[in-house]
Amino acid sequence: MRVDVVTIFPDYLAALDLSLVGKARRAGLLDLRVHDLRDWTSDRHRTVDDTPFGGGAGMVMRPDVWGRALDDVMGATGDGGDDGPPAHLVVPTPSGEVFTQRHAEALATEEHLVVACGRYEGIDARVVEHYRATGHRVSELSIGDYVLNGGEVAALVMIEAVGRLLPGVVGNPESLVEESHGAAGLLEYPVYTKPPAWAGLEVPEVLLSGHHARVERWRRDQALARTAARRPDMVEALDPGTLDRHDLEVLAGRGWVVEDGRLRRSGDEPGEPHEPDGGTAAAVAE
Ligand code: SAM
Repeated sequence: MRVDVVTIFPDYLAALDLSLVGKARRAGLLDLRVHDLRDWTSDRHRTVDDTPFGGGAGMVMRPDVWGRALDDVMGATGDGGDDGPPAHLVVPTPSGEVFTQRHAEALATEEHLVVACGRYEGIDARVVEHYRATGHRVSELSIGDYVLNGGEVAALVMIEAVGRLLPGVVGNPESLVEESHGAAGLLEYPVYTKPPAWAGLEVPEVLLSGHHARVERWRRDQALARTAARRPDMVEALDPGTLDRHDLEVLAGRGWVVEDGRLRRSGDEPGEPHEPDGGTAAAVAE
């Protein structure tokens, strides 16, 4: 996969030389290129921003500078620049769709991503409009309901989440299967390592039993219980048809019942929102 990042702070992306993503770059699994937006300015001060039309606080990033940069890195006609398939433009913004593992999985199938990191009050809205109108796929994505100073941290988040899904990046692909937010739609069970006793706390006996089926069942129960305690929205999204009788009993023990083919908190009126109960790890692991 090729990823181009355009930013006014290229050094911010240096963290992508580290750890598994850095290794993937060195192994040629990820061709990551970081560009300084100011290289596409045409004035002595290398200006990338100007005052907002309509007035108000802050500065807005100029569309002409972004247009020259993006035409160069992604190809003006949606042909992917150099020679590859059309690039997918990712624009981090707090007003975008919230980035999830599903987005990471979809983006991991692309051959060429271009990430446009905004600063100040953001990028002139015509940039996204123009690239959509010229046949590019454009995703405006937020990494959460808060506001950062720039898109670089969001780019790091997305590139790491996508990069670890590329074949060969994570040493043991099995470790991706049961993770939180995977295909099962659950949070991961709690994990333990040596020593078996620490700070007066014992590793659950079942994990030392060597009994594979019991370990699997315990982990599944913990994943269900943890998800029920911390993320009722994820329990609601489960398809009861994918759960076995034991799964349903675990959820029933936490107040979840199947009604009209979907999971609901017993006592909730259909369609009524409910308060998350903020369960803790201690409350989950019985
Ligand atoms: N004025 C914008 C608003 O209220 O929506 C916020 C601009 S923010 C200060 C500057 C840049 O930071 C954005 O253009 C975007 O690139 C990035 N950014 C800030 N928060 C973000 C978030 N939650 N997710 C993704 N990118 C974010």
